[in-house]
Amino acid sequence: MNIQKKETYSFQSEVKQLLHLMIHSLYSNKEIFLRELISNASDAIDKLRFESISSPNLYNNNKPKIQISINKSQRTLIINDNGIGMTRKDIIENLGTIAKSGTKSFLKSLEDKKNNIKNELIGEFGVGFYSSFIVSEKVLVRTKFAGNQSNEGILWESSGEGEYNITNVIKKTQGTEITLFLKKEEDEFLETWKIKNIVNKYSDHITVPVEIQIYDEKNKTYFWEQINKAQALWIRNKSSISDKEYQEFYKYLTNDQNNPITWSHNHVEGTHEYISLLYIPEKAAWDIWNRDNKHGLKLYVKRVYIMDNSQEFLPNYLRFIRGIIDSSNLPLNVSREILQNNSITQNLKKALVKRSLKMLDKLSNNDNEKYQSFWNQFGLVLKEGPAEDSENLNLIANLLRFTSMKNNSSEQKISLKQYISDMCDKQEKIYYITADSYMSAKNSPHLELFNKKGIDVLLLSDRIDEWMMNYLVEFEGKKFQSISKEDLSLNKLVEEKITNKEETSKEIVDFLIKVKKILGDKVKSVRLTNRLTETPCIVLSDSNEMSTQMAKLFTAAGQPVPELKYIFEINPKHELIKKICTMSNDEIFEEWIKLLLDQALFAEKGNLDNPHEFIARMNKLFIQL
Ligand code: ADP
Ligand code: MG
Repeated sequence: MNIQKKETYSFQSEVKQLLHLMIHSLYSNKEIFLRELISNASDAIDKLRFESISSPNLYNNNKPKIQISINKSQRTLIINDNGIGMTRKDIIENLGTIAKSGTKSFLKSLEDKKNNIKNELIGEFGVGFYSSFIVSEKVLVRTKFAGNQSNEGILWESSGEGEYNITNVIKKTQGTEITLFLKKEEDEFLETWKIKNIVNKYSDHITVPVEIQIYDEKNKTYFWEQINKAQALWIRNKSSISDKEYQEFYKYLTNDQNNPITWSHNHVEGTHEYISLLYIPEKAAWDIWNRDNKHGLKLYVKRVYIMDNSQEFLPNYLRFIRGIIDSSNLPLNVSREILQNNSITQNLKKALVKRSLKMLDKLSNNDNEKYQSFWNQFGLVLKEGPAEDSENLNLIANLLRFTSMKNNSSEQKISLKQYISDMCDKQEKIYYITADSYMSAKNSPHLELFNKKGIDVLLLSDRIDEWMMNYLVEFEGKKFQSISKEDLSLNKLVEEKITNKEETSKEIVDFLIKVKKILGDKVKSVRLTNRLTETPCIVLSDSNEMSTQMAKLFTAAGQPVPELKYIFEINPKHELIKKICTMSNDEIFEEWIKLLLDQALFAEKGNLDNPHEFIARMNKLFIQL
């Protein structure tokens, strides 16, 4: 044997931090360490199966299994697998550092959280191997990589306090054996019934047999008893699977502690043969807005585990969906590169998108309350759909929820179907307004006419809304119309047209001419309106020009924006306008007109290019009072 002295290494600082956090905050749910260790053992067996497809020398005839034994006198719990094992290099990388990207920012985000929230977040993050230190004062890992033909393996040893040792040891069998020296107060984990219970609870669906060593008092011998069913859940007949089993499988798959809202399990035969099991989580994952968020399905080919997080099967806007896909058509040696340019992948993706959207549609029809809670969590993600997936535009549009002028709450509850069924007789379009905030949309002067006529308007104030609305042209034959844009068809809805009296009266004609002269090319045009009730004037975008909200999005993204010119509309019935009309002092008149335009621009944009000028002008006019 290549005798090497014991070497001592220090844990990466993130590992120390994680260990500390875990030992102190996950104590109330400590039994999960067993779930984590069994899940690692099962992953290692899956990896071996997968690797030996391309490297047949790794293959051996051993039946894959995970074995648990208890040694009461030494107070140890041993978990042994015959999976891929680890080399010296592997073990330093895997058990001394945390490779997952985003871990640093995750740990940072935990720093100032309360304990119960920490618990939830750490659970979601997947605590992994280090959770063994919640119950152990010392952990030994004896391992040998599957390709290693010698009798030599590696021993890793640590008490979870900053350092670990590595030595070479004799190990005949491949795979990994983990020995936990339990802390004094953790005697319960030395009881066979307790271990069986935990395995049943968390690991029943592990596809590898999990066995426990039992002492037969009568014959004075030991034997192995299988604890779990060891059959992949998704292969089983739907009718034979209980809700509880689906839920536990979800938790195992995702590390999420909450139950999923709903799921969809399908066996599909024919040219594309596959099984899919898709889940909708109750809560968004902590990193759903991170660019390197690892979403995607767990991929199997003909029951063989291939990889986690394969993103090729679902579009970005469905990144909250978790689950597995087991294809019978993909080759076993499939890699991420092959997946990306593969027609089978494309076909599966199409089918899975349809299934996902159908699952959501079903949820929205069957359980409004659950759908609403889904929408509150993931609506913003789903709103990326219209831009990303034009093929399913209608299905997606049907799943969107909005708030509206009549709704009287900022919660987004109204579907387009509902909006259409509540439309007035003469109404032909779906009206909406986009703004920076709910309050700003709700109080926009553009709504005055609609309020008066009892026509509902969708209020959109999420950042993504303006972008989304670019892709939503119509729904069930009804066109979408922004009410801050010029819309000639509105005239049909307004009975009292601005006609004869006001338009032709000499006073008003002169007034409009004067206003146009003062504002010059600051505005596109000036005209009268009867859309307003409370407000003296308003600005509108031309129907084919960039909207105010879109211009804001461009500016925020650092893109150049053409100068926006508005149509300036004046409400001749408003008291202030009537008063200004009669002013004889030209200088004061001019100041008033400029103030009115700034007011309208302020209401539309939520800011002004030169607020100081606006304030100075207002103060000047106050003094005149
Ligand atoms: P995760 O399983 O999410 O990767 P863990 O902390 O549970 O994180 O495990 C860290 C890594 O250690 C695993 O990714 C794997 O490479 C390695 N590992 C853990 N347990 C085993 C095992 N029983 N056999 C082989 N490798 C293992
Ligand atoms: Mg793990």
